Amino acid sequence: MSLSSGPAGGPVLIVGSVAYDSVRTPFGEARNVLGGAASYASVSASFFSPVRLVGVVGEDFAYDHVAQLAHHDIDLAGLQRAPGKTFRWSGYYEYDLNQAHTTATELNVFQDFLPDLPDNYRDTPFVFLANIDPALQLSVLDQVRRPKLVACDTMNFWIEGARDKLLEVLARCDIALMNDAEVRQLSGESNLIAAGRRVLDLGPGVVIIKKGEHGSVMISRDSYFVAPGYPLEEVRDPTGAGDTFAGGLIGHLARCGETNDIALRRAIICGSVMASFAVEDFSLRRLFRLTPEEIAERYHELTTITHFEGL
Ligand code: AMP
Repeated sequence: MSLSSGPAGGPVLIVGSVAYDSVRTPFGEARNVLGGAASYASVSASFFSPVRLVGVVGEDFAYDHVAQLAHHDIDLAGLQRAPGKTFRWSGYYEYDLNQAHTTATELNVFQDFLPDLPDNYRDTPFVFLANIDPALQLSVLDQVRRPKLVACDTMNFWIEGARDKLLEVLARCDIALMNDAEVRQLSGESNLIAAGRRVLDLGPGVVIIKKGEHGSVMISRDSYFVAPGYPLEEVRDPTGAGDTFAGGLIGHLARCGETNDIALRRAIICGSVMASFAVEDFSLRRLFRLTPEEIAERYHELTTITHFEGL
């Protein structure tokens, strides 16, 4: 895998939250910092492919943050600025960093947001519906013309509050990404493999279950793949790990233009690698100072870590 020549693949369309987060972990705290599912996913994907972002921010969204996203070859024509405040999420983690505790979700400008895709976005071949109201994910799906691949993510907030719309989204997706707790909550099954199979019955051909530091599993009708988490000794803030994983995954698929099993397995490792960087610091700080060489190095390390000989 070579990333040193920069992104070369087809573009990726990403819709989701662009946010200001306030986060506390046992290792520190950050208030009103750049976050949001679409921000993490877009910056992550941008290391592999050009990105088209769809979302909304409020009048309080700093120009510096716009500039940082634009600097990553992220097309912001689909990022609206609306009267009001930017989406805000506050949460904390205890020593089990796999479990986020939400203290507040303020939808703010997302409450009245209607995605309106610029015309050149409508033919984007790879689409990632990052975590946001499933009604908005559906609106984006209604506006794109026959994409090659659609992946979606969600979280407990929407599984509880917008289940019917979420089921409509899943029925129209190729890949569903969820963490272990979410896939259990959605399916009502405690066994993860059984839970994953239930999600396949809802429509997607592939489900990828993220298990935080323990890596991820991919389940499809005829394939099963386990990817480890990169063995990091220091994690400061797990916020955005799932979105960064998804960005690396869809970015790689768009870059190689393939959606077969080999491409998916590589894409999952790209996702693991990208997530391992995101959690090293608060907000998107680590992603903003990441280099393609560092990504290639960790990808290579994961191939060695997972290699074993037959008996
Ligand atoms: P992750 O840790 O990958 O699950 O994603 C964390 C990001 O999701 C944070 O940066 C939040 O701003 C964003 N987020 C939290 N709750 C929601 C929600 N209900 N809808 C959309 N995005 C959210």
